[in-house]
Amino acid sequence: MARILIRLNENLVSEPVVSEVILENKVLVAILAAHINSKGGEIVLEVPDEEVDKIVSAFRQKGATVTVPKLIEIDSDRCFNCGSCVALCPVEAISVTKDLSIQFNKEKCVGSVCNICVDACPARAINSVRYSNAEHMRSSSSGYREK
Ligand code: SF4
Ligand code: SF4
Repeated sequence: MARILIRLNENLVSEPVVSEVILENKVLVAILAAHINSKGGEIVLEVPDEEVDKIVSAFRQKGATVTVPKLIEIDSDRCFNCGSCVALCPVEAISVTKDLSIQFNKEKCVGSVCNICVDACPARAINSVRYSNAEHMRSSSSGYREK
């Protein structure tokens, strides 16, 4: 699943844009968060990976602004388990296991709308990648685990 951020302007917030996109494309999406008022709105959706391009295009055709946040990828060869990223992550997507290795939970990570760990890593071991490349994140011999 991939997360996309939909921004609606004040003209669109009173329209059933999300419902129309879902019904017209026959794709089930999950609404993870929504903040809407009379001036506009932001909605975070979770969409099946294979449907992202279609859904993004559908929202853009209706006038919405769509952002597909990049996810992060850990270079296990560079990571030396210093733990700096653990303390900084605002959503606890990175943690330390009992054996003091680092564990990454991609389900919690909000990706490039945050990127705090990318900038903070002293080893430059964390990179932003397109959601479709994020499947390359795997356990590693350096102790970095994906949950
Ligand atoms: S990814 Fe970077 S900041 Fe995080 S534990 Fe590894 S070296 Fe430290
Ligand atoms: S990008 Fe942000 S949310 Fe994701 S793991 Fe890094 S600090 Fe946590």
